[in-house]
Amino acid sequence: MATIVRSEKLSSIALFLDVDGTLLEIAAAPQSVSVSGELRERLRTLSLGGGAIALVSGRAITDLDALFAPLTLPSAGLHGFERRSAAGVYRRRTPPSAAALEAAREAMSHLARAHPGLFVEDKHFALALHYRGAPQLEDTVVAAMKGIATNLEGELELQRGKMVVEMRPAGATKAEAVAAFLAEAPFAGRLPVFIGDDLTDEPAFELVNRLNGLSAVVSAARPSAARARLPDVAAVHGWLAELQAEPAAALRRLSAREQAATACHDSLPPAARGSRLRSQA
Ligand SMILES: [Mg+2]
Repeated sequence: MATIVRSEKLSSIALFLDVDGTLLEIAAAPQSVSVSGELRERLRTLSLGGGAIALVSGRAITDLDALFAPLTLPSAGLHGFERRSAAGVYRRRTPPSAAALEAAREAMSHLARAHPGLFVEDKHFALALHYRGAPQLEDTVVAAMKGIATNLEGELELQRGKMVVEMRPAGATKAEAVAAFLAEAPFAGRLPVFIGDDLTDEPAFELVNRLNGLSAVVSAARPSAARARLPDVAAVHGWLAELQAEPAAALRRLSAREQAATACHDSLPPAARGSRLRSQA
């Protein structure tokens, strides 16, 4: 069912944006991306123009700040583990123990050394194993990471993504971060809009759906709880430009896409839907 957008002004929405795969094209390595002046200016103008905008990313907040500098936005990092409010207040969940992080680091580094094309990204409170350089190793990587996660239960948990398997602090989700933003100014009382591309974004899509907000997945075809679909990063940039120029039209367009996204999801045979969802879990 399509959400009815009641208000049509920028000041009526709380906009939550994932970064990699949503605002930025995914690069061969996380450190090789950059933010264009145009995107930075767009986000700054939208924020100054009455928009409530937060970044909700798997990157650490320090990493987001470095990427978007000199712009600093309200941000959630490491999949909701840490959050900086619009007032600049920083909070994080209880970190995993140093022993758990060291055990994960050691096991993942060992795996990466054994297989050319793999590399470990150390995000301090989370660790990611990227296999973009060796996609044929997906099954090996996932099986090994599941083994590592089993020994660290309660401290770190597995998060799959695009060509990456991550050990992130247990219990944190992007939905939790979005809910926390929505309890505070300037996000409180606004229509939540969440745009993301990956599996870590699904809990946030579900939350926004429950709140009758707008959820959009950046993908042409991936099954998702999101009710709308933007095919690629360029489409996100186009939508943000439209949001700046004509907020009412942009919100209607995202809302009107909902039925198309649902139809696309429903057109998959139930068996394929289930197994694809399971294989991504
Ligand atoms: Mg992403």
